[in-house]
Amino acid sequence: MARRGRRAVSVIVLLGAPGAGKGTQAEVLRDRLGLPHVATGDLFRTAFREGTELGREAQRFMAAGQLVPDDITIGMLRERLAAPDAAAGAILDGFPRTAAQAAALDELLLDRATAVDAALLIDVPAEDLVLRLAGRWICEAAGHVYHEVTNPPREAGRCDLDGSRLIQRADDEATTVRARLASQLPALEEVVDHYERAGRLRRVDGRLPIAAVSEALLVALGAESRS
Ligand code: ADP
Ligand code: ADP
Repeated sequence: MARRGRRAVSVIVLLGAPGAGKGTQAEVLRDRLGLPHVATGDLFRTAFREGTELGREAQRFMAAGQLVPDDITIGMLRERLAAPDAAAGAILDGFPRTAAQAAALDELLLDRATAVDAALLIDVPAEDLVLRLAGRWICEAAGHVYHEVTNPPREAGRCDLDGSRLIQRADDEATTVRARLASQLPALEEVVDHYERAGRLRRVDGRLPIAAVSEALLVALGAESRS
C-alpha cells in the first residue's frame, strides 16, 4: 500500500463474511497504521442507540439479518468519511458489502483524487463462521470484541479495556446468523470480484490465530509488524 507520508490518503478495505474477524483486525490495524476504524455496523448500532430515524430504519434490516439498503448505507459512509479524523484515510470494516457500494466508494474517492489502496480478504470457511458468531461477546461501552473460547476476557463478563459488561448481539442468535450468511455471502463474492478485477485484492487465511492473521495482514500491506 501507499504508506502515510508518501501519499496523502490511505484507504484500506477489510473484507470477510460475518464473523471472519474484520472488527478484531481493524482495531489492530488502527493502532499500527494510525488510521480511524470505520465500521458501518457500529455506525448503525450507534444511530439506533441514539434513537435517530436512520438508526430505526437500519435496525429493521439488521434484526432480520438482511443488508441495509445501499442508499442509506452509502449516504452514512460518505458523511463519516467527511469527518476531519478521516482526512488521511480510514480502515473500512463492513463496507463495501455490495457491488453498488464498491462502485460508490470508488467514485467518492475519485472526487478526492484517491482510491482504495488495498482490499484485504480475511478468508474463513462458512462452516467456521457459525461458531465464531455464537461465541462472540462485545462490550456494552465500546463494542470491543471477545470470543468465549478463542479470545476470552481476563475476567468473565467484563471488558479488559474499559471494564464494561459483555453482552451478545441479538443478530448473533443462530436463526439470524443463518439468514445473514445466506443473504451476505453471495454479495461478498461480488465485492471480492470487484477488487480482484482492480488488482487490489489480497487474501489472508482467517483460520489462523488472531495474532497470526494480524501479521499476515501487515505483510500483505507491506507494513510488517516491528514486534
Ligand atoms: P458482522 O461484524 O457480523 O459482519 P456488522 O456489525 O458489520 O456485522 O454489521 C451488522 C449488520 O449491519 C449487518 O448484518 C447488516 O444488516 C448491517 N450492515 C453493516 N454494514 C453494512 C453495509 N455495508 N451494507 C448493508 N448493511 C450493512
Ligand atoms: P467480524 O467483524 O468479521 O464479524 P469479529 O472480529 O467480530 O468478526 O470476530 C468474530 C468472532 O470471532 C469474535 O468473537 C472474535 O473474538 C473471534 N475471532 C476473531 N478472529 C479470530 C481468529 N483468528 N481465530 C479465532 N477467533 C477469532
